[in-house]
Amino acid sequence: MLDAAEIGKRLLEFETRFGRGGVIDTYFAPGRVNLIGDHTDYNGGHVLPIAIQQGNYLLIRRSELPPARLYSASVDMEARILLTDIKKERDWADYVRGVYLYSRSVCADLPPFDALYFGDLPLDSGLSSSASIEIVTAIGLESLGCRLERSDAIKLSRRAENDFVGVFCGVMDQFTVAMAEKGKAVLLNCGNMEFRQIPFNIKDAVVVVGHTGVRRSLSATEYNTRRHECEEALRLLSAKVGPRQHLADVGISEFESARYSIPEKLAKRAEHVIYENSRVEEAARCLERGDTVTLGHLMNRSHESLRDLFDVTTEELDALQELSSSQPGVWGCRMTGAGFGGCVVALVKPDNVERYLRRMPSMYWKATHYDAEFIVTSPGAGAHKV
Ligand code: ADP
Ligand code: MG
Repeated sequence: MLDAAEIGKRLLEFETRFGRGGVIDTYFAPGRVNLIGDHTDYNGGHVLPIAIQQGNYLLIRRSELPPARLYSASVDMEARILLTDIKKERDWADYVRGVYLYSRSVCADLPPFDALYFGDLPLDSGLSSSASIEIVTAIGLESLGCRLERSDAIKLSRRAENDFVGVFCGVMDQFTVAMAEKGKAVLLNCGNMEFRQIPFNIKDAVVVVGHTGVRRSLSATEYNTRRHECEEALRLLSAKVGPRQHLADVGISEFESARYSIPEKLAKRAEHVIYENSRVEEAARCLERGDTVTLGHLMNRSHESLRDLFDVTTEELDALQELSSSQPGVWGCRMTGAGFGGCVVALVKPDNVERYLRRMPSMYWKATHYDAEFIVTSPGAGAHKV
């Protein structure tokens, strides 16, 4: 979160850039980090993300004449939206263009506008700045007279990312950014979209996110391979234990009774998904009853499973996780997101955070020759007007 003085400075910048007058509204949408449950989403399983404190801000004002004028202080770049002919321009503003375009299906007559984006969320780091800029735009349309239901904001934003920008992402990102509540995690069943707000009753740990310094080369091919392997495992297991819609619907004992009848590699993929799904539910119970020890343990098991069974970690993710989880005061640590680069998330005792942040960068650099970056955070609020 940024303070009022910081937001005030940006308001002045808005007026310098776009002129004075009219009502400027301010909106905020956070980034997110998934505490546990990776590669469970497209298998109809659970995830347990939190919104983080850091996010994207939007200053927005209705204008009289097109085009819409945009500026992002985060990347120091201007952009425009030609309202009569909205096309992909292959720049940062495509996320905004996509949301604006698709929201016309709900609000036919959207006026032009001026918008300034800024914030304290690292971009391109696996903390879902993309969902954050989409959702802040979607809820900011309220300022133009288009008040979207949260469910519409989520759908439009996801569509903007998948179809307009052309980047695949699951439903967790936009959902968390739009729906999270302060001090809670979101337990989301990606199979039927049922969800529960889980109180984050862990008082003896802070959430630290560590970026490996290696851009997630979401090697699209590897990701698609995993999806196919999971589909194939589901098909073979369904033939043994009875038809299931999702891999996460196969119970642990059912899986154990059938695992040796399917190829070993597929059994490993299925084992990850099925056990990870049950770890997520257990982790949610730990959050609620404040059981940091078990939660940390589950996070470590999750990482090992993503490394040894699902095969989506990298040397750098493994190094960061291993170094991190062996530091004093660390309850648990795991990679978070799709893998193949990106971030780890750790739970660290408040008294040990300073020492952790002091020691980790050089230890990690010695091990990998990459620069890691860390941010300290806590479960924050979902998108809202400021
Ligand atoms: P992540 O969602 O993990 O941050 P993505 O590659 O999915 O990574 O999306 C990051 C992209 O989203 C950025 O490269 C940029 O194009 C866009 N973006 C997000 N927030 C902003 C912002 N405040 N200003 C400009 N572009 C942004
Ligand atoms: Mg993203």
